[in-house]
Amino acid sequence: MEMTNTAARRSTGEAQLLPLPSIYSLTLDELKEWLVAHGEKPFRATQIYEWLYGKRVTDFAEMTNLPKRLREQLASAFSITTLKTIVKQTSKDGTIKFLFELHDGYSIETVLMRHNYGNSVCVTTQVGCRIGCTFCASTLGGLKRHLEAGEIVAQVVQVQKALDETEERVSSIVVMGIGEPFDNYDALIKFLRIVNHSKGLNIGARHITVSTSGIIPKIYQFADEGMQINFAISLHAPTTELRTKLMPINKAYPLPKLMEAVRYYIEKTGRRVTFEYGLFGGVNDQLEHAEQLAELLKGLKCHVNLLPVNYVPERNYVRTPRNQIFAFERALKKHGINVTIRREHGHDIDAACGQLRAKERKEETR
Ligand code: SAH
Repeated sequence: MEMTNTAARRSTGEAQLLPLPSIYSLTLDELKEWLVAHGEKPFRATQIYEWLYGKRVTDFAEMTNLPKRLREQLASAFSITTLKTIVKQTSKDGTIKFLFELHDGYSIETVLMRHNYGNSVCVTTQVGCRIGCTFCASTLGGLKRHLEAGEIVAQVVQVQKALDETEERVSSIVVMGIGEPFDNYDALIKFLRIVNHSKGLNIGARHITVSTSGIIPKIYQFADEGMQINFAISLHAPTTELRTKLMPINKAYPLPKLMEAVRYYIEKTGRRVTFEYGLFGGVNDQLEHAEQLAELLKGLKCHVNLLPVNYVPERNYVRTPRNQIFAFERALKKHGINVTIRREHGHDIDAACGQLRAKERKEETR
């Protein structure tokens, strides 16, 4: 395993040359605007997208159907972000976890998961997180910075390039890596438009899932975007008291108001939402909680995904025994609720969000 000492680099105050803006941050329309503003024809944008996302070149010089002058102009205005792989862990089940290094030395995680229906990439949206969920490894150490849209896009391109070796394709994306996507809303929306575009990576909206801890104003905004993206809410508790214990964000955005926003989302989009419910042993995994949850979700167009807790050394949560997980599932089913138990990926590696980076952070703070 190759490791770089990013902390040393940061602490010595070595001058970091700021890279040019990432061309991956531009939607097709923005790229067209840029071209027109620079005296070029807008159709060049489609050609550039084809090079970036179809052929996946990382050097403007290779874009041979563009005039040389334009290639040079692009190279002096933009960078084509490549993320340095610091760690690559492969699990027995085919899951691959990447720890990538950003231009300023921070590290982020991206995970490739193999399903029978295709390859799915789990992307990170922020370096760290400021939401403070009591069970989550990603929030240890707080938020360092937001990712730019291009840095989120680059994660998918990079994984796609790894899959190119076996002629496979990234077929779906889950925005469930490190960070709260709705806390970096504008970059998230740009990212979604870029990867979804037919001239971009062409990943269908119905194959993209965004998950939030429940930033209510952004749920309303997201509902109004007119995208057919799958939407998940990290619920984790059926009552406001219990949710506040697990997720401090519930103080600012309490459960009843969250449910109102979710109802608005369902009405506006006509789409079903997913509720993620982590089972934390002895905390929220009793049958009475299942009953309360069924009551809360009664009549809602939704689906519940039960997540057996991922062990985080810094946290005290314990796993719910298998038979109790099944009993919880049965209790929900009895009330007609659609429910699944999340299949776990990469159990033999640090595949749960934030675990690999948490390790790296320890290296950094040594
Ligand atoms: N910030 C967003 C995206 C993260 S998605 C959100 O909160 O939805 C990752 C999912 O894994 C979330 O539902 C999160 O609450 C859950 N999670 C985090 N730590 C976990 C742990 N230790 N065990 C089980 N699930 C966990």
